[in-house]
This record gives sequence, C-alpha cells and structure tokens, in this order.
Amino acid sequence: MTFWISVVVATPAHSGVGGPLTYRSELPLAPGQLVRVPLGRREVLGVVWELLPDSGGLTPVQAKAVLGTLEGLAPLGATWRKLVAFTAGYYQRSLGEVALAALPPQLRELSTVQLARRLKRPSADTSTAESLCELVALSPEQTVALAQLEVDPRPALLFGSTGSGKTEVYLRAAARVLADDPEAQVLVMVPEINLTPQLQARFEERFVHLGRERVVALHSGLTPAQRLKSWLAAHAGVARLVLGTRMAVLASMPNLRLIVVDEEHDPSYKQQEGARYSARDLAVYRARLEGLENSSPANSPKSCRVLLGSATPSLESWHATLVGRYQRLTMHERIGSVDQAAGSLPTVRLVDMNHQPKHCTLAPPLLAAIAQRIARGEQSLIFLNRRGYAPVLACHDCGWKSECPHCSAYRVFHKIDRTLRCHHCGFTERVPRACPSCGNVDIAPVGRGTERLEEHLAELLQGITRPDGSPLVIARIDADTTRLKGALESQLASVHAGEVDVLVGTQMIAKGHDFRHITLVAAVNPDGALFSSDFRAPERLFGLLMQAAGRAGRNAEKGAQSEMWVQTFHPEHPLFGALKKHDYPAFAAQELADREAAGMSPFGFSALVRAEARSQDLAQGFLNAAAAAAQAQALPGHDMVTPYPAVPMTIQRVANVERAQMLVESSSRVALQRFLAAWQPVMAATRQQDEFKPLIRWAMDVDPLAI
Ligand code: ADP
Ligand code: ZN
Ligand code: ZN
Repeated sequence: MTFWISVVVATPAHSGVGGPLTYRSELPLAPGQLVRVPLGRREVLGVVWELLPDSGGLTPVQAKAVLGTLEGLAPLGATWRKLVAFTAGYYQRSLGEVALAALPPQLRELSTVQLARRLKRPSADTSTAESLCELVALSPEQTVALAQLEVDPRPALLFGSTGSGKTEVYLRAAARVLADDPEAQVLVMVPEINLTPQLQARFEERFVHLGRERVVALHSGLTPAQRLKSWLAAHAGVARLVLGTRMAVLASMPNLRLIVVDEEHDPSYKQQEGARYSARDLAVYRARLEGLENSSPANSPKSCRVLLGSATPSLESWHATLVGRYQRLTMHERIGSVDQAAGSLPTVRLVDMNHQPKHCTLAPPLLAAIAQRIARGEQSLIFLNRRGYAPVLACHDCGWKSECPHCSAYRVFHKIDRTLRCHHCGFTERVPRACPSCGNVDIAPVGRGTERLEEHLAELLQGITRPDGSPLVIARIDADTTRLKGALESQLASVHAGEVDVLVGTQMIAKGHDFRHITLVAAVNPDGALFSSDFRAPERLFGLLMQAAGRAGRNAEKGAQSEMWVQTFHPEHPLFGALKKHDYPAFAAQELADREAAGMSPFGFSALVRAEARSQDLAQGFLNAAAAAAQAQALPGHDMVTPYPAVPMTIQRVANVERAQMLVESSSRVALQRFLAAWQPVMAATRQQDEFKPLIRWAMDVDPLAI
C-alpha cells in the first residue's frame, strides 16, 4: 500500500519552494515524524507535515519515496507544528526554513545507530520530591506577585527594579508548576547566557532535586553534541526545565506549562537574520497556543503561563498592561532596602557638560568623586558605549579620515595593536605612519572609545592610592578584551574579588552582573541616543542607564550611598528627568505619547524590506518596482498599507555591497500581514525580471527593531 504525505524540508529562502513537498511511503507515517527524503540529488532531513488523501495528481514515478525515518524519536507535536507555521507565516519565511532551523543541526547528520545511542533511556531517576535548598522568606511584594500570577491567566509582566527579587519569583513560579504536575516543563529565556552565568547556577542549584539531566541549557554557545543532547531531553519530556536564549522558544517541549522571559526588553530577543522573529512575542503566542491545544475536552484542561520580567519593560509590553491585555505585577522595593541603606537606589547626578571645561572627557567633579571612591576602597564603573581607542583617525592638514574602503563607515583606531579596524566588515590594516593622502606625519585620533578612556583615566588618576597605599587598578571589559573563551569570566571574577578599583566598559558591563562593591556608576557620553533617527534609541538608553544604575550599591556595605553620574549637554531632557526619579512609568508615558502621535509601535505596525546589490540604484530600483507592482495589482490590504519610497540604509555600503530599505506601515496588523503575504510572490516575480537579476538578495523584517 502507498501512503501520500507532505514533508517540509529546509529550502533556501526564495528558491520558489515555500511549502511542503509531496512524497510517498510504503509505511504509514504520522504528522511530526522526522524523515529522510531525497531532494534533488541530496538526501535531507524533513518533517512530515500532513497525511494526504491522494497523490494530488503525481504518479508514483514522479513522486519520490521517503528514504527512512528517525526511529525512536517521537513525532513533533501538533502545537509545535502550529507554532512553526505561525512563525513562518508571520515573519514571511518558508515553513521548511523555520522548521528545520528550529531543530539541532546535528540531527541532520546522525545515522540511525548514532541516534539510537543518543536516545538511550535517561539514567536512573535520582529525583527527590523536595528541594534541598534552604528557601528564603519571600518579601511581601514577591508574595503578592506570585499569588496574582496564580489566579490571573493573562500574560504577566513582572515590573521590578534591579535587585527587587524577580529571579526569586521566576524560581518559585517554576517550582510550583513543576511540583503540581510531574510531567510539566518550564522554559526560562534569558538574553545572553554567557552574560549571566550566575543565573544558570541559581536555577541548577534550586532544581538539583529533580535529578540529573532534568535541567538543561539551550543556546548557541553549546557544542553541536551538547545542543542535540539538550534538545532531545526537552523533546522527550525528560528535561523539566530548559534555560535558553531566543532559539529556545522554538524548542520541542511537549508538556510546556510556563515560559519565563527575563529582561524581556532586551534587543537580543529579536533574531537578526533568516526568520527575523521576536522570541518574546513568540513566547506570548506560544503560551496561548499551548493552552488552547491542551484544553480540548479529551484532555483535562491545562494552561501554559507566560511571565515577562524587566525593570524597564519594552514599551510594547508596558502598553499591553495599560490596556489590560497583560497583567502587571509590580515590585518597587529592592531586597534589603527596608533595614539597610545599601539596598536603596543610587542618587542620580546630572553633569551639565555645557558648564565644564571645553573638550573634557570626564568632568572634574566626576573625577573627584571617582578618586574619593578609590581612597575609600570602593569600586567605580565607567560606561562608554564605544569600543576601540578612537572612532576615527584624521589628518588635520588635508582632512583625510580613516574611512573603510569597503563600507560607508570609518574604521576605528585600536591602539593596542596599532590597527584601523572596520567594525562592519572586519577590514583591518596597520595604522599608516603618515597621512595616506598628503604625507603629513601628524595624524590624530578623534573622539574617544573605551581603550582611550582607560588610558586617559590612568593619567588623570595618577598618584591616587587605595586605603592601604597600594596603587590603583583600572580594568576594561568590552568585546575586544573578552574575545578569548573564559576571558570575560576571569575578568569579572577579578572585579568581584575587589582587585579592580575602576572598571571601564561598554554596555556589556551594564547588563546582569551583580557587582557588590560598586558605589559609583558613570555614563560618559550618552547623548547620541537622544537624537538618533532610530525611534527606539531613547527606550534603549533609558533601559541601559537604569540597568547601569542598578549595578550600583547592590549589597554594597552599609552606609555607602551609591551614585549614578550622567554627563550630558542636555540635562533638561525629560528622559533624564525621569531617570533622576527612577521613574520608568513617567518615561514610558512620555515616549508612548510621542509614539502615538507618530503612529509608531505599539500604535502602528511596520515591516522593512531590505535589498542588497552592487549599486544603490539597483537595490532601490528593485524595491520601488516591487512596490509599484503591489499598487498596480491592488494586493489585499493595500488600501490600509503605506509603502514609503526606498532609501539607503544608515550604513549604506558594507563590504562593497550597497544596501537599501523600504518601510511599509499600517495602522492594522491584520492588513499589514495580508499585504505582506500577497506581496512575497510579487517580489519574487519582480526579482525574475532581467534588470533585477543581478540583485544579491532581499528579505523582509516584520516588526523591525530599528528603522
Ligand atoms: P532581580 O532578579 O530582580 O535583580 P534577584 O532575584 O536576583 O533580583 O534578587 C536580588 C538578591 O536578593 C539576590 O541575591 C537574591 O538571592 C536575594 N533575594 C531575593 N529574594 C529574596 C528574599 N525574599 N529574601 C532575601 N533575599 C532575597
Ligand atoms: Zn593629510
Ligand atoms: Zn568595512
């Protein structure tokens, strides 16, 4: 007997093969089963999508046969398939691309024997019913948040300042779900695992009683073998708790009952290539889907909760709590703030740079405050969001600047190895001895990066000593100092151990780390974000400064009042006004009013279509032609959708490729979705026109982070 099935395989984007392909099989197969199928001359991994009633017109000769199944592996569930289908549809990618990208790469390469070995039963159950950890008594706010979470089924936004005990709430919520149902699984997502080793340790420690292999990690830092192992454990239901980055949102977890998204505002939840999905938004969608799917009359009703947490939520999530789509759980108090000055939030000092000596990098009062901290044996954290020594090297005689020959950007001067490095294409050269254009030997760095700031601080603080008379230590943490595996960990350890007095770094150091002895945090030059063309820049700056402020004084010794210094030429800016009062709601209200007036997210919806070609004209021409075709064909939704003319991207040329983009806006998410879906094939057809054949690529980005 012959069975007909549709199978999704990883087809390259825009190959014209978007949907599932038809295959035949001599054995009955189930939807969700993993199979090996021929595709062209290759043998590829595929997922059985549907059982077909007939061959759909193909003869048994035309339709190829399934080559084999991945035995022993349970089929991927219906909910997982729906999630994948939604992701592909919403983010305008092919089903196969999303489905296969969600599977661990090693699954494609394993032979049946190898797979069988990996599928061997988990080692003997070593679980005990009770947590072995001694639990702290919950604060009143934590207690209320957890109680509210239990009774209200809506997605929850845990709005709590840094140090208010959000992680403890995640742990308790997870523990409750796991204890209530011996099968239940929990997914905890974090922005970047290597930045939060402490968090992983806390989860492992708390749930060690569940037994070995029950808590697994899923992120891109794992080896292919580790990733496969974690994925298989999650898929088999063996792993009860999965701690992962954005990719984990598409993990197969058959009994998922709770999804936690920590630091839900973090931009790294948005995938920036391939299917550009937002893992936070998919988490909310997935929780609802899991609830719906499992509530059929046949099953006892089960729900899946989603808990987003942040001290500075995304404006989208915050807005959802204002209109009642999400519930808001608020925790104002920092743990320990009642009986200890140490727990309170730092005082924010704005330094008006208009009244400081011209061209100074660090205002004299800030410098004095840093020196004072050193003398008292306290640590300071100086934050500058620009790595390298100087962003540009310039000749003051002829005006030459260190432009990258391949990009429309300057190459950054790195003094440590005397190179000019392009941060966009990677092009690196030794610093020229003299100006390449006029021969002047006096070429000079312009502006400051972390490397130069570190050097500058060492000069300015010369002679300052620690309480014991020993010389001060300045350290720097940024992408350049942490390239080697383990470098970040060891540098952080030396900060924790108190070996460092002043830590200089990029936003890397503002995130997540729990520094205990820092009593001063300073932002050297945050003004750029106030006037950025990127509409989310103020939101990100506010979040970053609040987070940086949260680094100060966590558990610092009693009595040491911590301070956050911000150097700015615009001290009157409302963003800083809200920062001074640690008032996120006030900031959000201002920003939301601006966004509403401009019809931007969350009040309007948008997508970007990007095109790349050897010439800017071709890239823009393609986008404009595709938009004209959409207009001419009156595509569904077009009357509610506004495509803007194509423009060059901010950095218009990278590695000799010209990049253009087109913004498409609508006040209706549904109209935008219908339009984009109909526009895809029109774009593909436009690309087939002779004049656009040389185009390198194009892609859609739905709900883009930056415009
Ligand atoms: P957040 O995630 O909001 O930054 P954490 O959950 O990490 O905060 O809590 C901050 C610190 O307070 C941690 O060291 C944590 O162990 C501790 N902590 C959390 N809740 C309590 C509590 N109820 N009692 C005592 N200490 C707590
Ligand atoms: Zn010159
Ligand atoms: Zn370059």
